[in-house]
Amino acid sequence: MNNIQKMIDMSDTEKRTKKESFEGQSYIEGLRNEIRTIRSRARRKRVRGEEPTACWVEEEVLRGEETKALVIIFSTVGCYFAETSGCSMCGYTNESITAKPKIEEINRQFDYAMKKYSPQTKVLKIFTSGSFFDKREIPEEAQYEILGRAKEKFSKIIVETRSEFVNENMLLKAKDKGGNVEIAIGLESSNDNVLRYSVNKGSSFMQFKNACMVANKVGVSVKAYVIVKPPFLTEREGYYDAYCTVKDVCEIENISTISFNPVNVQSYTLVERMYSRGEYRPPWLWTVAKVLLDSKKVVGERIRLISSPTAGGTSRGAYNCDKCNSKVLESIRRFSLKQDMEILEKVFEEGCECLESWKDILDLEGFMQSCVPMST
Ligand code: SF4
Ligand SMILES: [Zn+2]
Repeated sequence: MNNIQKMIDMSDTEKRTKKESFEGQSYIEGLRNEIRTIRSRARRKRVRGEEPTACWVEEEVLRGEETKALVIIFSTVGCYFAETSGCSMCGYTNESITAKPKIEEINRQFDYAMKKYSPQTKVLKIFTSGSFFDKREIPEEAQYEILGRAKEKFSKIIVETRSEFVNENMLLKAKDKGGNVEIAIGLESSNDNVLRYSVNKGSSFMQFKNACMVANKVGVSVKAYVIVKPPFLTEREGYYDAYCTVKDVCEIENISTISFNPVNVQSYTLVERMYSRGEYRPPWLWTVAKVLLDSKKVVGERIRLISSPTAGGTSRGAYNCDKCNSKVLESIRRFSLKQDMEILEKVFEEGCECLESWKDILDLEGFMQSCVPMST
C-alpha cells in the first residue's frame, strides 16, 4: 500500500456508514440487505428478449486511429450478483428481463443492432447488464455464435464480464471464434476496502489481477473500468482512490485501456437512496478531469485513459456549475479521443468561478467527518 492509499481511511468510512444506516447489523450484512431491499422494488420487464436493451454508435480509437464503435446491450436476465445484492451504484439490472433468452432471440437482438452497422464501425462493444460469458445470461452456444458473426464485420470486439467468468479455455475459444477479442472488467478500485465497504463488488483486486494474468497468457488484452467517487467517500477520497487504482493497474502488462466511470445516480440503488436524502453528491467534473490528467502522467502512452460521464452536467451525474459543465465535458471527451494532456491543462488554466469551491471542498470535506456534501 502506498502513502496515498493510506490517506483513504476506510475505518472512518465504516464508522460513518455503520452509525447512520445499519444499526444493529454487521456492516456487510446491513449494506447487502439495504441494497437488496432497494433493488427488489424495481420492476423488471417480463417480455422475451427480441430486441436489445439498447444499441448505438459512438466515437472510438483503434490502433491510434479515430473510428466508430457499435455498442450493443443484450437484453438478458442480468447480472447474477445483483440477484443476491449487487453493487451499490448499479441500476443496470432494472433493464434486465425475467425470462432467459433463447439462442435464436440473442441472434435476433444482434440482427437488430447490426442495422446500425456501417463499414466505419470497426469496433463492436458487447454489454449485457452483467457478464457476456455467464451462461445463465447468454447460452454458451450463443456466445460463440455471436463472436463468430461479429468477426466477419469488426476488427475488434470488446466483451464485458465479471472476473470470475474468465478462464483459459473460454478465452481461447472466444479468440478462436471472434479474432481480436478484448475483455472489459469492472474493477472499480484496487482498494479492497473500497470494493467491500463502499461498492459491495463481491470480488477483490486479486481476482481482477488473476483474470488479467489468464488473459495475458492467451494474448487477450483487458480494459479496466475504474469508479470515481463511490458512496461514503469524500471528494478527495474519490480522487485518490481512482488515482491509486491507476497506479496499481498500470503495472499489469495487458491492460490496454482504463475507463473512468464517475458515479451517476441510477434508479433503485443505494446511491439513489443516499442522493434523495442529500447524503450523496456525484463527483465534480473537475475531479474527473484531474483524475484523467494526473493518471496520464503515470501511465504514459501505453494505456489509453477515457471517460464518458453518464448524465454528465446534470445533478444525477458528474457536474460542476452551469457556466462550465459543457466546456469541461467537452474537454474530457476530446482528451479521451486524443490522449493530449494539454486539453485538460487548458481547461484548468481557464478555470471557472466554481473551481475555487471545488478546491475548498477537497481541502475541507474530510474535516467534516461526514459524507454529507458541502454544496449542491
Ligand atoms: S457486477 Fe456489474 S452488472 Fe453486476 S451489480 Fe456490479 S456493476 Fe452491476
Ligand atoms: Zn464552473
